[in-house]
Amino acid sequence: MSLLVVGSVAFDSIRTPHGEAEGILGGSASFFSVAASWFGPVKVVAVVGDDFGDEHLEVFRLRSIETTGIERAPGRTFRWKGEYVGDMNDAKTLDVQLNVFQNFSPKVPESDTSTEFVFLGNIHPRLQLHVRRQLSKARLVALDSMNYWIEGSLDELKETLSEVDALVINEGEARMLSGCQNLLKAAKEIQKMGPKILVIKRGEHGVTLFNNGSVFSAPAFMLEEFKDPTGAGDTFAGGFMGHIARTGDLSESNLRRAVVYGSVMASFAVEEFGLKRLLGLTPQEIEGRVRDFAQLTRFDV
Ligand code: AMP
Repeated sequence: MSLLVVGSVAFDSIRTPHGEAEGILGGSASFFSVAASWFGPVKVVAVVGDDFGDEHLEVFRLRSIETTGIERAPGRTFRWKGEYVGDMNDAKTLDVQLNVFQNFSPKVPESDTSTEFVFLGNIHPRLQLHVRRQLSKARLVALDSMNYWIEGSLDELKETLSEVDALVINEGEARMLSGCQNLLKAAKEIQKMGPKILVIKRGEHGVTLFNNGSVFSAPAFMLEEFKDPTGAGDTFAGGFMGHIARTGDLSESNLRRAVVYGSVMASFAVEEFGLKRLLGLTPQEIEGRVRDFAQLTRFDV
């Protein structure tokens, strides 16, 4: 089934306790689409500048990602510079250059307006809503957001929230958005705003899924190699939505499996800087880690 993402395509400069990288391909739409490409076809709506070469587009093509919706605008591609220290749970943003994003009005290609599964990556809520309204046939629209929009564009974010089915958000941001410290209460408040499916990302504590009345928690996969957390959230979303689009199944048990696929994809992403590990995967590695995940969480009552 069809899957589409709108989000950022970026050049990232990253420093972590394990090394650094300068100007590498990143952005929410890049991490999402490369992760989702392991599950089925995926289309990207984004904007890049004239410094975005064929060698960068080739990365998407190698994964058979549809790039018709990647618009090229005059100017430089979006740039983000960040640093992680200590336990690497939070990124410290050192620099953001919006560049071509400043005048971006995302357009879904005519041939893609009947897409069934949609991920609105972390961009201005007004742009997210603009894309959402171009996709009237969608069966599941999921949204990502961040503290920046909760603090600065709350009214627009609430309007967008009222028109989506799912929200994928960090724990701290869920508390900020709902005004509730208790996560169960926070989830209920957010569900009242629109999204009936809520996925709360809790860093090294894993992920919790709230769907109608039920709650499911998956731990983070335990890793020996952990170099760069950049893109972990978007990669999670790529695995989560990729599995849902592949199966077309919105049942509670399948959403739980999707949470595990998302967690598994995120666990690969953080093993290397940027997209490197995600690009070099095999389907066998993914399924192997899903089995390891089942082993990690299995117990008898
Ligand atoms: P994550 O680690 O999953 O939260 O996402 C990291 C990615 O988000 C990086 O590759 C950045 O290029 C991108 N990013 C950071 N800040 C922004 C922003 N304000 N708007 C869009 N994308 C961003």
